Amino acid sequence: MTDTGWKLSGELTPDVAERLDVTLELLADAKGIAPPTLSRFEQRDSDLWRVDIFFAERPAETFVEELLDKAGITRWAYEFAPIEDRDWVSESQKLLAPVRAGDFLVYGSHDADKTEASLINLQIDAGQAFGTGKHETTAACLELMSGLRQSKAPENALDLGTGSGVLALAAAKIWPDARITASDIDPIAVDVARENGAINAVPERQAASDAAGVAYLTADGLTDEPLKAEKPYDLIVANILAGPLIDMAADITGALAPHGALILSGLLISQRDDVLTAYRAQGLSLDSEAESGEWCALQLTR
Ligand code: SAH
Repeated sequence: MTDTGWKLSGELTPDVAERLDVTLELLADAKGIAPPTLSRFEQRDSDLWRVDIFFAERPAETFVEELLDKAGITRWAYEFAPIEDRDWVSESQKLLAPVRAGDFLVYGSHDADKTEASLINLQIDAGQAFGTGKHETTAACLELMSGLRQSKAPENALDLGTGSGVLALAAAKIWPDARITASDIDPIAVDVARENGAINAVPERQAASDAAGVAYLTADGLTDEPLKAEKPYDLIVANILAGPLIDMAADITGALAPHGALILSGLLISQRDDVLTAYRAQGLSLDSEAESGEWCALQLTR
């Protein structure tokens, strides 16, 4: 067997998985190597997330040790093994092949020749912040946003938990006149989103200005002043997770303009009803939904 790739996998709590993701990126950066691709997914019936790190080739012996040490992970029962050629190809294609969702094609820079003139092409490289378009939760948002295209022209939109910036940039491509805010609790994601904005030729605007384009902000939820200053939003897209979305139901609804549209994603189908109940209690009603695999996204209106 020629081992073209190596995979490290196991289960971690969401917090630790996130810390590992950030640490991996920083460590790869410090060592001047291309960051390996980490994917983390919520699992049905478990509080633990599934984490897979794909290395294009076998990392140095000490790399994994140093990574876990820096991420503060002790006693983790992970698997670390070469991936057979066939698996590696399918895994890496799954992570790296261009993805079509709604009117969009999301592709990595290595596939720049695969763009399609009839679609809105967004270049987002994997391995930085979450949101290459490959995950079902992102694709479901892109589909619902494409559906809104005919009926809505938002003037003031928010992408809460922007990750790679993919949804804010998608909004800027569909609605080039809109004021868009892309926020994330993670400053690294905000930097990545801003870079992706430049790569995709989306104008950056200053927060709280009337200019069209995307403003990038580090903020936890909606209570930070710069995000409050921009409300009400006539479109909010939030691909976070069921738990935080339920916790933030009042804040998110409070930031939404009358007749504004809200797209919620990051929920397993099994969590759909709980999320819907929380938002109905805030006076919102369901307009549309998209399902992909075990995941679903909801489109609500005020
Ligand atoms: N919007 C992208 C990324 C989704 S991943 C996409 O659809 O693909 C979810 C993002 O939400 C992560 O980048 C995470 O850092 C961010 N996040 C989690 N909790 C948050 C909070 N309370 N406020 C803002 N961002 C948050």
